[in-house]
Order: sequence, then structure tokens, then C-alpha cells
Amino acid sequence: MTESKERRHVINFSPGPAKLPDEVLLQAQKDFLNYAGTGVSVMELSHRSPEFEKILKTAETDLRALLSIPANYKVLFLQGGGNGQFSAVPFNLMNLKPSQTADYIVTGTWSANAATEAQKYGKVNYVLPKTKTYTNIPDLSEWKLSPDASYVYYCDNETIHGVEFQFIPETHGVPLVCDMSSNILTRKFDVSKFGLIFAGAQKNIGCAGCTVVIIREDLIGQALPSTPSVFCYTTQSANNSLFNTPPTYSIYIMGLVFSWKLEHGGVEGMEENSRKKSDLIYDVMDNSSGFFVGPINKNCRSRTNVTFRIGSREGCDVLEKKFLDMASKCGMKELKGHRSVGGIRASLYNAVTAEETKVLADFMKDFFQTHRN
Ligand SMILES: *Cc1c(COP(=O)(O)O)cnc(C)c1O
Repeated sequence: MTESKERRHVINFSPGPAKLPDEVLLQAQKDFLNYAGTGVSVMELSHRSPEFEKILKTAETDLRALLSIPANYKVLFLQGGGNGQFSAVPFNLMNLKPSQTADYIVTGTWSANAATEAQKYGKVNYVLPKTKTYTNIPDLSEWKLSPDASYVYYCDNETIHGVEFQFIPETHGVPLVCDMSSNILTRKFDVSKFGLIFAGAQKNIGCAGCTVVIIREDLIGQALPSTPSVFCYTTQSANNSLFNTPPTYSIYIMGLVFSWKLEHGGVEGMEENSRKKSDLIYDVMDNSSGFFVGPINKNCRSRTNVTFRIGSREGCDVLEKKFLDMASKCGMKELKGHRSVGGIRASLYNAVTAEETKVLADFMKDFFQTHRN
């Protein structure tokens, strides 16, 4: 198939919307005009048709299987993206305690934005000392958690800076809320440690449009009275995510991605691959005598968004531009760091293969050999 061959000329390291597995796109292409013999596209199916209900149910069942989600958790498929949840979380959970205060552990841009948004709906306690350079997760002795908080919020993987938690914060019974937009389904973890987990689809589990919310049942039902109905977990959960028209096509793609992950070793398989891929890049960095400089502390380096700078401070911009231009000519796209931090960022989500990552690692080694000093 020519399309598929064409794709192989490009390696897409985009931070999101990001690469999808070839198998998923080919299946979507097959189904495009005539889904399961219905004579219509998934885009043209009623969200209340038995065919779509099956798509929704299967996506939920597969996600539950992948993450071993306990029975007392609801799974919602919502719109509004990660930013939508920055608002929905305080709308729904700020009221859990009379303090109407939430603890925010800010380790990068996304958790910082979430904290700013939450201030509209309640009080926000910053758990960590404020900083603008997000390069590490401060030692637990510096954390200031409040015992009467309605919830504790953090971002498991900061996509822009490349800071990833290697542990689940202990909150002593306060519900833990986590943004896993850019690393969900890249490693095994215990869902029962969380009150709520959310993830936008466009990084690691599908195309833009849908946001998955996994929430413990007892946290549903105390939303602020002003909560918009589409963002209200009580309303959406009572209607099985069908209070309004959900992002049907995005849910369908997500379902294909979930079944692809199940067929490729499940979360254990994803985790092994994720570790292998990020090690390939970090090993080149760490063996480059300071040519590639990783700004992030080694104990919180991200496996899905590997960030680095090139060369000495003065030559940095020139070398980085050259690196990006040469990489692009070799078919490696979207390696430019976020505009707020600069540098290089390789996003290694589940659909990016170890072979593709090896191409980048080898390219880095060559670039180092020809540009050192
Ligand atoms: C991309 C991203 C977001 C923002 O998602 P939108 O869907 O653009 O609102 C939030 N959190 C994390 C960790 C992200 O990577």
C-alpha cells in the first residue's frame, strides 16, 4: 500500500497530536466508508446506535483490562482536552472538604496552568517552592501538603520540560488527582492509589478530541452548583458519557489504539519498550562528554519526552538549528523543543518504535562525532 510505504520516509517525534500505530490507521482506512457493514462511516453513526454503543463499551472494557481498573471506578469519555479537565477537576472536587482548598504539586507548565485555572474555583496551596525552571522534583522534605485539602493534584509527566515522576505521591487519605496525558499506558501502576486520573487522547492513546477520566465513585456527586453540565462528572457518569454527543470518531480511534496495545504485550509490553527507547537516547547523551546536555535531574527524566540542549552555551542555538535541519532532511520530524524552553525534544510515545528511536540515536552519535569541539 503506497500510503503506508510513504509514511516510512518520515519518523514523527511529535509531542502531540502524535504518531499513531500504522495498524490503527490502516484499520481506520478500511472502515472509513463502511463501518462493520453498516454502509456508513463511524463519523456518520448515531452516538445512540447499537454499533456506536459497542465501540464505546469495547473501548472502556479494553482500557479497564489494560490498567486493571477496579470496579469502584467510573471511566468517562469527555471533550475539552487536558485544559478542560484543568477546570472540571476543581469544579467537581473543590467542594469535597469545607476548606475548599486544593494542593497543587507544580513541576512544569501543565501543572502550573492547572493550578492557575483552579484558583478561579477555590483556594490553591502550592506544595512546592515556586520556580520557573522545572528541572527536578524537590525532595519530599520540601513539600507542604495541607491535611484538610479537598484533593492533591499533580502531573505525572510534564510534556514540555520532560519531568516524570518515578513514584506515586503519598497523600495520607486525601484524594490524589493526576494528569497522565503524556504517559498513560506507558507503564504499570496501581489505579486504586488515585481518586482521579485524566488523559487527553492526542499524545499517547489516540487522536485529539477525547479526554479519558477515571474517577473513584465516591468522589462523584459533590460538584460546585455552577459546574457546567458537560463537565459535571455526576451528569456524565449517570449518562454513561452520553449526556451530550461525545467525540465519537476520536473514541473509535482510541478503541483501536487500546486493542493494538493489548495485542502488543499490554502495559507491560509498552513499559518495556518505553524504557528501551528512552535509554537509547539518554545513553547517547550521557556518553557525549557534555555535548548533549540534559537539563532534567536524572531521577525524574521522562521516558516519553526526552529533552536536551546541544553544545556549549554560545554555540547552542546554531548547533541546535543545524541538528534539526539535518534530522529533518533524514526524515525525522518534530524534534524542536517547545517554544517556551527551546532545545530539542524527542517524544517517544507508544506508537514510536524502538527501530525509529535507534535511527535518532545513531544520528545523534554521528552528529556528536562530526561536531564535537
Ligand atoms: C498536552 C497536554 C495538556 C493539554 O492538553 P489540551 O488537550 O491541549 O488541552 C495537558 N497536560 C499535559 C500533561 C499535556 O501533555
